[in-house]
Amino acid sequence: MLQTTPRAATADGYDAKTFYDGLVAHGLIVPVGVPGVFGRGAVFEDVLERFNALVSDLSRHDGAEVFTFPPVIDRSILERVHYLDSFPHLCGAVHSFFGNELAALALAERANAGGPWGELLAQTSVVMNPAACYPVYPSLAGTLPAQGRLVTMLNWVYRHEPSPEPTRMQSFRVREFVRAGTPDQVIGWRDMWLQRGLDLLHSLELPARSDVATDPFFGRGGRMLAAGQKEQKLKFEVLIPVISASDPTPVCSFNFHQDHFGSTFGIKTADGEVANTACLGFGLERVVMAIFKTHGFEPKHWPLAVRERLWK
Ligand code: ZN
Repeated sequence: MLQTTPRAATADGYDAKTFYDGLVAHGLIVPVGVPGVFGRGAVFEDVLERFNALVSDLSRHDGAEVFTFPPVIDRSILERVHYLDSFPHLCGAVHSFFGNELAALALAERANAGGPWGELLAQTSVVMNPAACYPVYPSLAGTLPAQGRLVTMLNWVYRHEPSPEPTRMQSFRVREFVRAGTPDQVIGWRDMWLQRGLDLLHSLELPARSDVATDPFFGRGGRMLAAGQKEQKLKFEVLIPVISASDPTPVCSFNFHQDHFGSTFGIKTADGEVANTACLGFGLERVVMAIFKTHGFEPKHWPLAVRERLWK
């Protein structure tokens, strides 16, 4: 009888399953039985919080307002930004039960028997937040001060992308900044952060590089949107090899929205023009995984300079 062998790690030492198993074996993540969802161990969280603190430290003189939002947002935000036109496959909408006692019995019976029960629920007014910055834009409505505005937040993000591959999560945290102002203010800020982000990751001795990128738009129309986005250089990512050398993992993304959110949410510059916006976000779990992939699963064996940078 032929024996099937497990898929071998690639010659360059990158393999999603081996990396996932290593994270689990070292107590860094805790499987919960759903692909793309897992618990985080204490050491994983410590590294994540310390990296986030480095980001705060770098930006402490930038004058950012600090906001915190829950993992759910007003459903109408997704509708106003036409999220479903581009990313219907990633959306997570919250549904709940609105029926009477009889219907509740039917619901419980179905669920207890292991049958499908989703059709007995109805849509609520909230959706899972699919982009850390979305809840910020409605709060910027009105006229900005002459210097524009800068907001930072650390939000949980949901994307329906179940996968056994550890860097592709259904729920994760993004440390994000949103800048609103004139095109010059916004682009200058974005370019400053592109270099600052690279410098930060290089200071942790990570092999990070930046590249022009596209969003994972849905369907055939999506390919045209992606082509336009690339041509206009609206999105950049910082990439680090985590599970593949040839296809490195985006750990940070920089998005220039032009006047898209400004016109949707009524954000104006001091001189009455529609404001431009840009955002940048560090995928915190991905940064942490990149550190463990690059330097090993045990922080005590990391290069001294990396340890000192994080635990100074
Ligand atoms: Zn954003």
